[in-house]
Amino acid sequence: MTTFDYIIVGAGSAGCVLANRLSEDGAATVLLLEAGALDHSIFIHMPSALSYPMANQKYTWLYESEPEPFMNGRRIHCPRGRVIGGSSSINGMVYIRGHALDYDAWTHGAGLEDWSYAHCLPYFRKAETRAQGGDAYRGDAGPLHVSTGACRNPLYGAFIDAGKQAGYPYTGDMNGYQQEGLGPMDMTVHKGRRWSTAMAYLRPAWKRKNLTVQMSSLVTRVVFEGSESRRAVGVEVIHKGQVQQLRAAKEVILAGGAINSPQLLKLSGIGPPKELQPLGIALTAPLAGVGENLQDHLETYVQFECTQPITLFSALKPLNKLKIGLEWLLFSSGLGATNHFESGGFIRSEAGVRHPDLQYHFLPMAVRYDGKSPATCHGFQAHVGPMRPTSRGHVRLRDAKATTAPSILFNYMSTDQDRKEMRAAVRLTREIFQQSAFDAYRGAELSPGIQVQSDDEIDAHIRANAETAYHPSGTCRMGTDDMAVTDGEGRVHGVERLRVVDASLMPRVVSGNLNAPTIMMAEKLSDAIRGRAPMPTAVVPVFEHPNYMATQR
Ligand SMILES: Cc1cc2nc3c(=O)[nH]c(=O)nc-3n(C[C@H](O)[C@H](O)[C@H](O)COP(=O)(O)OP(=O)(O)OC[C@H]3O[C@@H](n4cnc5c(N)ncnc54)[C@H](O)[C@@H]3O)c2cc1C
Repeated sequence: MTTFDYIIVGAGSAGCVLANRLSEDGAATVLLLEAGALDHSIFIHMPSALSYPMANQKYTWLYESEPEPFMNGRRIHCPRGRVIGGSSSINGMVYIRGHALDYDAWTHGAGLEDWSYAHCLPYFRKAETRAQGGDAYRGDAGPLHVSTGACRNPLYGAFIDAGKQAGYPYTGDMNGYQQEGLGPMDMTVHKGRRWSTAMAYLRPAWKRKNLTVQMSSLVTRVVFEGSESRRAVGVEVIHKGQVQQLRAAKEVILAGGAINSPQLLKLSGIGPPKELQPLGIALTAPLAGVGENLQDHLETYVQFECTQPITLFSALKPLNKLKIGLEWLLFSSGLGATNHFESGGFIRSEAGVRHPDLQYHFLPMAVRYDGKSPATCHGFQAHVGPMRPTSRGHVRLRDAKATTAPSILFNYMSTDQDRKEMRAAVRLTREIFQQSAFDAYRGAELSPGIQVQSDDEIDAHIRANAETAYHPSGTCRMGTDDMAVTDGEGRVHGVERLRVVDASLMPRVVSGNLNAPTIMMAEKLSDAIRGRAPMPTAVVPVFEHPNYMATQR
């Protein structure tokens, strides 16, 4: 049987980072297993085509939630990447790190002292090359290329100006000193192409002799040995219809993401005994927290008609699509070379909130992100939603088969706090769009629509229309308490030589998008796995509104 030092399950945001960093050590052999295949599709690499891969079952686990009890029983779409690059190959390419205080808050959990912002910042910098150059916050020599939207469409600037008119600060770099405010947004786009972790980390390492990448390989369980202390020694895989056993001499590392990693732990007998025993799964280690603590960001759209024909609606005409596609194919430039989320920002929903709890993605078009409801006229919109939701859900098995999609319940909007923040989100966004910066462009409110005003009406609108921002996380959270799944270095409690490294480790979802934080975590834990000293901490000033207790802006 073939033996590798490390077996990594999943070539996603975290898995590609691990594959690169662990195979830097020429003496270590690394096997990267991925259920999906190569990312050979123009629709993955062309940034503006982002709504195609996320809806394409060739590249995506097209999960959906159970009927959500606080969302009119709707099943919410939960796509996850199944291709090299994982979700970084199907995501919206928005590059946001979250707020420094998110990471500081993680350290309140026992055993997580090393996750403060000062500990994480060096790894954010290590990962990144920012097109505009680096500084104390931003990197200039990492594999992950990050560029900033050019904001050529005047509506991007109108959104930023309207924010200023409404009394919010401008921020020139929401990943640097100041997250709070509205400004231009960053994207993982390089030379006009999506810069997934497959491009950033995997392709440069692929030629190394000590790295093996095996695609179309569904890992069905972790294999253990030892009776008293259970030791992970390999994995079982279905590859080309055959069952393979592959051995790991040092560690098995699960990087399957926040839905699949807890599923795989449970299929391997690590989870709540009362869930596993009725399914006939032999218990390896009882761990009540596996699959619990599921968190996500929910968002709603505030949309207006645009009175001038300057929006991306024109780009949807077949001839224009053809021109955009050709320009992108020939020169990697033009409207095909951007994710179109070029301005946005973060505000606080009320006085007393210390750092922003609402995020904006502005789009010069009124359309659903996943392309499910096409634009019908010239319009513009902001996606907005709470960043630190208090609702919690879970991922559970339906049966003992790795090929059966797990049962996913988010419990979106199950708390008064989340509903209150969502109402504030709608009202504060309307106020921004009413500023004079939009006078030349603002037509009728398309969504929620002016008839939606009272708390009850907004709540009903959210129940019927809000959608995921695609940020499931927290299902194998780090910590030392009874519900924690791993320690602060991703080592699974109760067994040996098994780690999780992906978005499921987050004790609490951060205030922003999750690709950059997941990459940072994988960079940081690569050092831990290799036994290298952590990078020196970086203590830098971070903006906090001087009067946040008394004022909302
Ligand atoms: C549609 C969408 C839009 C998003 N937009 C943004 C955005 O604009 N900006 C942002 O920062 N974040 C965004 N995100 C979130 C972000 O991309 C993810 O949080 C992040 O990529 C998660 O990384 P991960 O390593 O945890 O998992 P993933 O990147 O999902 O990787 C998991 C990998 O493991 C593989 N795998 C799983 N189970 C098995 C198994 N049993 N055997 C073998 N392989 C397996 C999967 O196929 C996948 O390739 C978006 C996500 C989605 C889905």
